[in-house]
Amino acid sequence: MYQGPHDVRVDEVDDPRIEDPNDVVVKVTTTAICGSDLHMYEGRTAAEPGIVFGHENMGTVVETGPGVVNIKVGDRVSMPFNVACGFCRNCREQKTGFCLTVNPGFAGGAYGYVSMGPYRGGQAEYLRVPFADFNCLRLPPGTEHENDYAMLADIFPTGYHGVAMTGLRPGENITVMGGGPVGLMAAYSAVLMGAAEVYVVDRVPDRLRLAESIGAIPVDFGKGDPVEQIKEQTDGVGTDRGVDAVGYQATGKGGEEQPASVLNSLVEVVRPTGSIGVVGLYLAEDPGAPDEHSGRGELLFKVGKFFEKGLRMGTGQANVKSYNEYLRNLIMAGRAEPSFVVSKEVPLDAAPEAYQRFDRREEGWSKVVLKP
Ligand code: NAD
Ligand code: ZN
Repeated sequence: MYQGPHDVRVDEVDDPRIEDPNDVVVKVTTTAICGSDLHMYEGRTAAEPGIVFGHENMGTVVETGPGVVNIKVGDRVSMPFNVACGFCRNCREQKTGFCLTVNPGFAGGAYGYVSMGPYRGGQAEYLRVPFADFNCLRLPPGTEHENDYAMLADIFPTGYHGVAMTGLRPGENITVMGGGPVGLMAAYSAVLMGAAEVYVVDRVPDRLRLAESIGAIPVDFGKGDPVEQIKEQTDGVGTDRGVDAVGYQATGKGGEEQPASVLNSLVEVVRPTGSIGVVGLYLAEDPGAPDEHSGRGELLFKVGKFFEKGLRMGTGQANVKSYNEYLRNLIMAGRAEPSFVVSKEVPLDAAPEAYQRFDRREEGWSKVVLKP
């Protein structure tokens, strides 16, 4: 439970129960900490003390509401971080990150996330899942590939979405800004989609090593302008595509002071007429912002250069539901193993320490999964 900036604690809460006929309750077997949780953890959102975090959940169904048709007690399931109804206009068009029923006019719903609906998070023993027939993805029974499937709730589909928004074609090359868990999943997705060269920009050595381990080219921005480094390796042209997997980072907490620089670097590094996918999160409202450079959405974005180069850009929460079944099938077929990104597996009780270390981007603390 969130207590205040840089303070989460493990505490007792009431067990969730069926509230609507189409709910199920899931006993959580694995739940992950996400870079998106850090925006709340660092006190940069309107999150109130008492929120149970956790939007990357999987587990076993223990109870079903009377209106649930397809999902049964005992099913092993993965839940997209998006809570979506399945029948509004956006859901019908596969834009489940922007469900109009659960959160009209905003960025859809999510578990355990400020301003994304009343849905309690799954960094807990049990989770209530609304619209369960739509929001549960069935997994093969057993315990095999647990940490691979755990990546289906968010970061594997999110990384994939970042690349998909660029329209990458086989043989093209791509720059991924950020080698955090999301950036690594974007790089991995680009490899799966047949990219010729994948550049991953970060400065944390073990994150760059993980990028290298999947065949990407690491670029350490601590050693000089990443745009220059990539242009040197691409005959001065840059890459066809680019992904922002950094978003707004807190000042002095392992992040850069001017988050706009990531977007502007992509505008510089992507070849004219290329495209950019933005999955790194930017906040429209930022009560904790120390100054005007800190991510209010009023960033110093070089729109002139963006126009001059004829670039395209896609943004937003990933529509997990439009990818997770296919990515699950790749895992089942032995053709994808996204758990390479998981660097720590700890019990729920260790969450406070895990938050602190992940927030500092410490060596050996990239993706953390919690086992309630
Ligand atoms: P993270 O925040 O640790 O990853 C960010 C990485 O960027 C870090 O490794 C950091 O060292 C690196 N970085 C910082 N400044 C940089 C710069 N100037 N250039 C290049 N790299 C830089 O954790 P994460 O879980 O990978 O999350 C990344 C972002 O993705 C967060 O903003 C998160 O909120 C967002 N996110 C979005 C969605 C979505 O659906 N759109 C889903 C999940 C996460
Ligand atoms: Zn997440």
